[in-house]
Amino acid sequence: MAKLPPIRAIIFDMDGTLTVPVLDFDLIKAEIGIPGGTPVLEALEAMPPEQRGRADAILARHEADASERCQLSPGAADLIGHLTGRRIPIALLTRNSRVSVNAFCAKFAIDFDAIHTREDGPNKPNPEPVLRLCRTMGVSPAETLVVGDFLFDILSGQAAGCPTCLIHQGPRPPYADKADLVVQSLAELIAELE
Ligand SMILES: [Mg+2]
Repeated sequence: MAKLPPIRAIIFDMDGTLTVPVLDFDLIKAEIGIPGGTPVLEALEAMPPEQRGRADAILARHEADASERCQLSPGAADLIGHLTGRRIPIALLTRNSRVSVNAFCAKFAIDFDAIHTREDGPNKPNPEPVLRLCRTMGVSPAETLVVGDFLFDILSGQAAGCPTCLIHQGPRPPYADKADLVVQSLAELIAELE
């Protein structure tokens, strides 16, 4: 695997990357009635208004519950401290809501240089939010690492021209090959940035 280029900024996914995963997307989809292969936000967008209200409420209830229970991933506090100490800007890019992000930042006292939530649209896997966050931080995509635990994180970063890092434990998913770097934990990522 190729070594990362010099990194001047990092864009993080939230759920399952900076936090231990607690959102059960299969359960959310079953409760709303979304077929297996369709991502939640895209299914919601395609719904008629009379179904959409109920679906939004189910998603919001799961997200509120998750943000109450959420814990930082092992190594997250150390990594953020490491980056802040080196004045490397950090951004948060999530398909989760602004309410959940505000709760997360307040709970763990993390001060991001830029934030994109789903209300800010368009969302991952679209590269536009990645490009927007790079502009806000004043860094070029080629020097900005996009870190996430899912295919959409890697696709959005790659399409924006950023190096990408997949955080993954267990059997390697097929899309792992698309990422420039695959690590099992954020602690492992610190070593790669040295
Ligand atoms: Mg995630």
